[in-house]
Amino acid sequence: MKKTLDDIQTQESRFVLNTYRRQPVAFVRGEGPRLYDVDGREYLDFVSGIGVASLGHAHPGLAAAVADQAKTLLHTSNLYYHPFQAEAAGRLSALSGLARTFFCNSGTEANEACLKFARRYWHTQGAKGRTGFVAVQHAFAGRTMGALSVTYDEHYRTPFEPLLGPVTFVDPNAPESLAAAVTDRTAAIIAEPIRGEGGVRPLPKAFSDAIADVCRRTGTLLIADEVQSGLGRTGYPFHSQALGWQPDLISVGKALGSGVPVGAALVSERVANAISPGDHGSTYGGNLLATRAAAFFLEQLMDGGLLEHVKTVGAHFERQLRALALKHPVIAEVRGAGLMRGVDLRIDATPVIDQARQNGLLVNRTSETVVRMLPPLTIDALTIDRGVEILDTVLATVGAEVHA
Ligand SMILES: *Cc1c(COP(=O)(O)O)cnc(C)c1O
Repeated sequence: MKKTLDDIQTQESRFVLNTYRRQPVAFVRGEGPRLYDVDGREYLDFVSGIGVASLGHAHPGLAAAVADQAKTLLHTSNLYYHPFQAEAAGRLSALSGLARTFFCNSGTEANEACLKFARRYWHTQGAKGRTGFVAVQHAFAGRTMGALSVTYDEHYRTPFEPLLGPVTFVDPNAPESLAAAVTDRTAAIIAEPIRGEGGVRPLPKAFSDAIADVCRRTGTLLIADEVQSGLGRTGYPFHSQALGWQPDLISVGKALGSGVPVGAALVSERVANAISPGDHGSTYGGNLLATRAAAFFLEQLMDGGLLEHVKTVGAHFERQLRALALKHPVIAEVRGAGLMRGVDLRIDATPVIDQARQNGLLVNRTSETVVRMLPPLTIDALTIDRGVEILDTVLATVGAEVHA
């Protein structure tokens, strides 16, 4: 018998650890930018599993590659050589200009690896006091102890202290404070080119220039956390390229496997030279399934015209959202780049998220007032228009309630 939403909710509430506040819907099937729930209702997916389903749902080419790999060989561990790791790593090198890749299983793990590699680098240089990190206010890097230490939100951090230290958070609106925060005890600066979970907040140009400048002057390593902003999401291979950064380390995840869990830390030659066997590792990291999916995604991105597509539809998306902002005074600001967009409201975004879903559009709330949108990179202009129309309808109702 087919499970109803009620069955699923009842079972989950008994057995699944209560770490998530879920919306009352369960999806069982997808196709391109569309999802279908247990009752067969269709939704436009402008969340794509938080920027993960980069090729949309049930992509035939990816499905064929994953099925073929499942029938052939899924996993052997890192005790042995792999047919697809270097294929995916070579493509990541070509996209980033960084020499080498370490594969892991999530964005958090990628950041964790970057933090370790940064400390390992200075340890090898004999600068054993360079262990600290400088991070940015409103940053999100993940929930494990290291990644959590460079995540800004007090709610995430406080119950789990003491965390890794020393970490200094700088205010991106005060670029002059960066030079003071970076000392001869700083291993690396870690920063998202556009803060995603923190509300789709681009870095002010003066601050992103200050990061590039202080790294150039002091040799401090730069870790670009591109887990959300990287791999085509903003219309660039990596958004740090748009900012003129030359990071030593880049973390990626989310889009890389298009739904198959995989993350990676990309590492410059000078940092790579400091790493030796045994310094880091992962049982699953870069297994055959994960790297086959990653190689497939990267091929679509680089040779399949996906990057150019994001530039075009991303510009279209921005025009539509700006037009929406002119119509609805409840919108305070439209932010982001490419297909990474945030609509910051003058009210809590929850009713907009809920009503959009009831009207068949999935969008996501972040930083309380922000409606975040990360549609599949394959989305077309007509589907964007349809989604923006639904938002238009919802904002008309919610906006009217605000003024009533
Ligand atoms: C999502 C995200 C992470 C964490 O990735 P997980 O795959 O959830 O571990 C880290 N950094 C940024 C910028 C993210 O958006």
